[in-house]
Amino acid sequence: MLQVENLAKTYPTGQQALKGCSLTLDKSQVVAMIGPSGAGKSTFIRCINRLVEPTAGRVVLDGTDVTALSGDQMAKMRRHMGMIFQEYNLVERLTVMENVLSGRLGFVSFWQALFRRFPQQDVARAFELLERVGLSGYENNRADALSGGQRQRVGIARALIQEPKILLVDEPTSSLDPKTARTILGLISDLSHERGLPVLLNIHDVGLALMFAERVLGLSEGEVVFDGPPRGVDEAILTRIYGEADWRQTIRHAGEEADERRDRRAGANGDSHDGAEQSDIDERLKWEAARR
Ligand code: ADP
Repeated sequence: MLQVENLAKTYPTGQQALKGCSLTLDKSQVVAMIGPSGAGKSTFIRCINRLVEPTAGRVVLDGTDVTALSGDQMAKMRRHMGMIFQEYNLVERLTVMENVLSGRLGFVSFWQALFRRFPQQDVARAFELLERVGLSGYENNRADALSGGQRQRVGIARALIQEPKILLVDEPTSSLDPKTARTILGLISDLSHERGLPVLLNIHDVGLALMFAERVLGLSEGEVVFDGPPRGVDEAILTRIYGEADWRQTIRHAGEEADERRDRRAGANGDSHDGAEQSDIDERLKWEAARR
């Protein structure tokens, strides 16, 4: 269980990115953080694993006060926090298998790491995970030869091989096309439930957040202004999070994107698209229509 208590961050520039945010996150739940650019979403995620050092507040993971740990202790703690990044953070010249196994680097000895001699059970586990994320047969491909969606699948497998207690996900789909974005979020959501793994997701796309999250955290100017289920996100809440003009624009863009996809599909006679995508778009359009 993750408990975040009154988390605050003021950058050396004086920018108050977080002004005392709290959150309790339990098993197998996808929590999506939404909010305008600059609201503090990325800072929130990065303060949890202390890639950004919080100014005040506490982060407690399974009873351990993460904020009180020394550098060495924190390095060990980070093994339990899987992280998935927007830009994948793969080592481009290494293979898919090597990238996945790099998730075990914190667990093997210096010499094993140096010669990339991972225990057989780690290798077996990497094969299993690659199969689960749909990359069987790609083990020996170099990361730089993969598509964006495939790279993110490697990023997911690399995070999972750590056997983390929590998954921190920072804008995982911003570099992906809409269909791949939905597939990747569907995969993250399924894995969360299969593994009883809490997921904290920073996502700027409200439509995707409402489609895949069980709980939504609305951030505005460094404060949590909404914490509840997706169905509770109505016009008033969106206005509180984004301001009157902005959220309408956000939703309109999502709607236009869905319209464009539908037009493209009609143009292609639907041949290259599956039913799952259609139902996703229908869901999203329904959601948008309900809020007009
Ligand atoms: P979001 O992820 O919601 O877009 P961020 O957490 O990236 O928001 O940023 C929150 C605020 O903190 C913004 O005003 C941003 O300019 C500021 N900020 C983020 N990172 C830094 C930094 N390294 N130094 C100074 N200010 C920063």
